[in-house]
Amino acid sequence: MWVVDPDSQKRLYRSLGNSNTAAFAKSGMHLGVGCCYYPLEMKQLFQDTDRREAPSQEGRAVAVAVNANVWSQYDYLWPEPFGVPAVGRRVRVPFGKSDKPTIGFVTGVSKPTGTRKLKAVAEVLGDGPAFDAKLWQLGNWVSKYYLAPLGMSLAAMIPSALDKTHPRTETVVYLVGERHDWPGNLGGRQKRVLDELYEARRQEVEPLALGELLRHSGASRDTVKRLTNRELIRLETRPIKLPEFPAHQQDDPFELNEDQLSVLSEIEQTLGGGFSCTLLHGVTGSGKTEVYIRLIRKVIQAGLQAIVLAPEIALATQTYQRLLGRLPRVAVLHSGLTDSQRAFHYQQIRDGQASVVVGPRSAVFAPARKLALVIVDEEHEPSYKQDTTPRYHGRDVAVKRASIEAIPVLLGSATPSLESLRNAQLGRYRMLRLPKRVRGLPMPSLHIVKLRQELRRGRIELIGKTLTNRIAAALDRGEQVILLMNRRGYASYVFCPKCDWRLSCDECSRLLVFHQATQLAMCHYCQRTAPVPDRCPACDGKLVFFGYGIQRIDSELARKFPSARVARMDSDTMTSPKQFRQVLEAFREGRLEVLLGTQMVAKGLDFPRVSLVGVVSADTSLAIPDFRASERTFQLVVQVAGRAGRADLPGEVIVQTIYPDEPAIRFASGHDYSGFSAHEIPLRQQAGLPPFTRMVRVIVRHRQLDRAEKGASEFSASLRELLPAESVRIVGPQPAAVMKIRGQFRFQTLLISSRTGVVQDLLFGRMADLCRKCAGQVVVDVDPIGLL
Ligand code: ADP
Ligand code: ZN
Ligand code: ZN
Repeated sequence: MWVVDPDSQKRLYRSLGNSNTAAFAKSGMHLGVGCCYYPLEMKQLFQDTDRREAPSQEGRAVAVAVNANVWSQYDYLWPEPFGVPAVGRRVRVPFGKSDKPTIGFVTGVSKPTGTRKLKAVAEVLGDGPAFDAKLWQLGNWVSKYYLAPLGMSLAAMIPSALDKTHPRTETVVYLVGERHDWPGNLGGRQKRVLDELYEARRQEVEPLALGELLRHSGASRDTVKRLTNRELIRLETRPIKLPEFPAHQQDDPFELNEDQLSVLSEIEQTLGGGFSCTLLHGVTGSGKTEVYIRLIRKVIQAGLQAIVLAPEIALATQTYQRLLGRLPRVAVLHSGLTDSQRAFHYQQIRDGQASVVVGPRSAVFAPARKLALVIVDEEHEPSYKQDTTPRYHGRDVAVKRASIEAIPVLLGSATPSLESLRNAQLGRYRMLRLPKRVRGLPMPSLHIVKLRQELRRGRIELIGKTLTNRIAAALDRGEQVILLMNRRGYASYVFCPKCDWRLSCDECSRLLVFHQATQLAMCHYCQRTAPVPDRCPACDGKLVFFGYGIQRIDSELARKFPSARVARMDSDTMTSPKQFRQVLEAFREGRLEVLLGTQMVAKGLDFPRVSLVGVVSADTSLAIPDFRASERTFQLVVQVAGRAGRADLPGEVIVQTIYPDEPAIRFASGHDYSGFSAHEIPLRQQAGLPPFTRMVRVIVRHRQLDRAEKGASEFSASLRELLPAESVRIVGPQPAAVMKIRGQFRFQTLLISSRTGVVQDLLFGRMADLCRKCAGQVVVDVDPIGLL
């Protein structure tokens, strides 16, 4: 039996003696069978002493990277009937003590073996390697760059839906005869079934799939059976018809304006010219999507393919709908699809039938073999970062993929990330601009309202007088309102309402954020912590912790506007893409008047009847424990403001804040991206933070506080040994901003280096060893976008 999980590895280590194992690990020696393995640095196999009997050992052995949180790869027997083994084949193997069926990928093939007792590969999936050479290279890069096990990295590239078997046939239902044939004594459900079918006939979409019919009519199988027996309907079994690409409208609804034309022609020139990266900075409503559409059309005309990434499923869906109407053969890939839809789209892309694929970050791995262009819309969005292993950033993988494929990549945003801006300033990316809204529409006017004054009146009202009046006026005019309340839970900050004193960092002059878990206030820049004083040090007044959630706003709205139709949109209320779609649809059709949401409502939405946007508290995102708090606040305010006045109604934005002088808010109110970046970039440089440095965050966690703490300090000590102090600054370990999550205590160490990949180069080959020795569970986050 092979060693499979960290615990049994630890046991094994004890039985082998430590010096021995350390030597194995150091040499990186491969102790598996044979010798013709692919040269992968991470290969370290260890043999357990007590082996179970395995079946006869004919055939070859393969090394498999399993989709599990282990750094080793394992040898398996490749049974003769499976044919010739190849690197990149996707397999199912028995894994672990309980032989759990687990997906894995063949990373190497050995000569035939006769002596070893190995578990055998249980199943070979697909009819060839799961990746072409370029995607294989990309997967290996993800593993190495994000310090994630190879098996998990490769698995993340393929929708798990592909593993399920799909029924090949379905039952469909036809109506027999006409409406006047229906008897009078029909039950309610029977009638509904017939009505559904009648409607389907009228719309020329008869027959209906049985499952769909049952869902829509609420009828049971029994009802259907009764109707069949009465010969009012007829069932038929037929092969499943895969969805077809809908017809699209060819004509463009309008001409591009001059700015769009010049941007388009600049980017067009990069097509076919090898790798290049263009950053398109276009204000909200400047017609970026329109530029994407025309660019993709060029790609399609050349018989090639394009990938379009959007930061979230909801936005991907919106973009998909928009492209569908304008371009042929558009596919979509995301987890909100049914398994068979997903498998269908995946195959369409791989077989070259689809020309464009739209999706959230995972779509960056779409198996487009004739890929000519990758577009990353809203490139600044933190949701491009995956928060489970492999913790990759969709935008950065897109850039890497483009470089491997030698094609151009286009990053678009109204508020480019400082990372991308910096790359443009260094000449790595080319920067193009769309500085104005289309059709000469003005940017919405932005008013800052001091929340402090409204707090003084004793009762704390979060929707202040100005905002309340403006909402009332907009509702009176029959227009729509978007309200943003981006409270991200746990953190709030401390201030004195009487004299405006605030708790801030002496070193960084940044607001300190109070953390429930530690009961301390913390600086997001230097990570220093401080206790919160009992009373205001300046005037001895009572201190206030500011931080309120969206639900409170919801009830305040209900109190103030009892007849308004309001929908709340946050991760508590929106648990599926479908709900999201339904709310947006209701809003678009005017069945809702106010959309109250977290950052979900800030992005990309294009509703012509929205004339008012209210930011209930711009300060909630300033209070996130992260050095990017200011940048996030700026982006959020500018983006949500961009939802107002997108058509013919003039837009107005009310931003409530306690700190109207905060640069992020001041610059956002003037839609002043260059002002903001010119202010923020030197601060980052002085503090030695990204985009001037690269960060790797290591969290060690454990249910027991002492083990987490001990694990973290030992881990950091090993890191200090491995990483040269002159190229990597090591901060920590210290308790993470949210110290306890789901019962686990967390300690973080930050590795900060001035060059890309330094830490990875030094750590990649050591991860197996480091993780094995650690008392807690190790989570590595390369280029973290949040430090919670
Ligand atoms: P962005 O992606 O920059 O926010 P969009 O591409 O969504 O902007 O464009 C905003 C709106 O303006 C959309 O409804 C779009 O159809 C419309 N639009 C885009 N380009 C033009 C144009 N050249 N003339 C008229 N309307 C346009
Ligand atoms: Zn005070
Ligand atoms: Zn500080």
